[in-house]
Amino acid sequence: MKIASLFGQGRTVFSCEVFPPKKTSPVDTIYKTLDGLKDLKPDFISVTFGAGGSQVNQSTWEIASIIENQYKIPAMAHLTCVRSTPGEVAEVLSQLKASNVENILALRGDRTPDMPPKTDFLHADELVSFILRRGDFGVSAACYPEGHLESPDLVSDIRYLKQKVDAGAQHLVSQLFFDNEEYFRFLERCRIAGINVPIEAGIMPVLSKSSIERMVSMCGASLPRKLTRILGRYGDHPEALREAGLAYAIDQISELIAEGVDGIHLYTMNNPEVAKQIAGSISSIRAV
Ligand code: FAD
Repeated sequence: MKIASLFGQGRTVFSCEVFPPKKTSPVDTIYKTLDGLKDLKPDFISVTFGAGGSQVNQSTWEIASIIENQYKIPAMAHLTCVRSTPGEVAEVLSQLKASNVENILALRGDRTPDMPPKTDFLHADELVSFILRRGDFGVSAACYPEGHLESPDLVSDIRYLKQKVDAGAQHLVSQLFFDNEEYFRFLERCRIAGINVPIEAGIMPVLSKSSIERMVSMCGASLPRKLTRILGRYGDHPEALREAGLAYAIDQISELIAEGVDGIHLYTMNNPEVAKQIAGSISSIRAV
């Protein structure tokens, strides 16, 4: 089933993201995560590529296949192209097809100074076109409510996003953000630009001061005053910060749903307990 077909059915789509556990974690870690997430009945689960480090127990494709075939939940495999050749991407597509995984989040991937990029795919729109030429996949892409860090301005960011959608991306998943107003302004820019595919809001609950600092430095998400106050007051009290961070995420999601967003994509950090608390708090809200 193509992920884009989940939208437009009068309810908010709810999806979760997991990453392949690191080599240092027990091999069955991912099953514990998926067992916990299964009970939440997510519309789909996505699996990151490379985000757990290069040394991972199970690959993105293997985990996506487990989700699709064993858990019977639609899976979306992330796929980056910045360090791949067309032949390597074609090989991955064959593996995904053979495993029954038909949804892909097509990404360029980060450019890092230590690993030089290849030159076959310069941007994600080229990967989107390549995948669609190769087979009947559901193709999604990433978007950035506050702009991608490399973008000179928000106007060019939206122009390139439109290019990805025109190349065939059928659904977008947003970078995490903490300020709903930024997201609503982004949605408005998308609609003005003629980007009409479903867009899911990426939400990551704030559970520790260090993780939030890392995330903000990595993706440039702005911290609204309400969240800065929470961090200031509870930053040195892990339990209190966790409670306040969860409450903040639930509040953020409730407002997004009330405003009619297409979907909520929860960055679970492989923590099903947190996902459970959030999903439990919004189950009635989602259904209205
Ligand atoms: P692009 O769409 O190519 O955009 C990258 C930059 O180039 C942007 O500034 C854009 O405005 C600009 N641009 C786009 N097209 C053009 C063009 N044609 N000409 C000139 N400029 C252009 N990374 C991982 O390694 N693994 C993951 O699993 C992963 N999952 C992610 C999931 C989500 C939901 C998000 C939001 C990000 C994820 N990332 C992941 C991070 C992502 O790889 C980085 O943000 C990367 O730097 C950009 O990828 P992209 O697909 O958005 O690139």
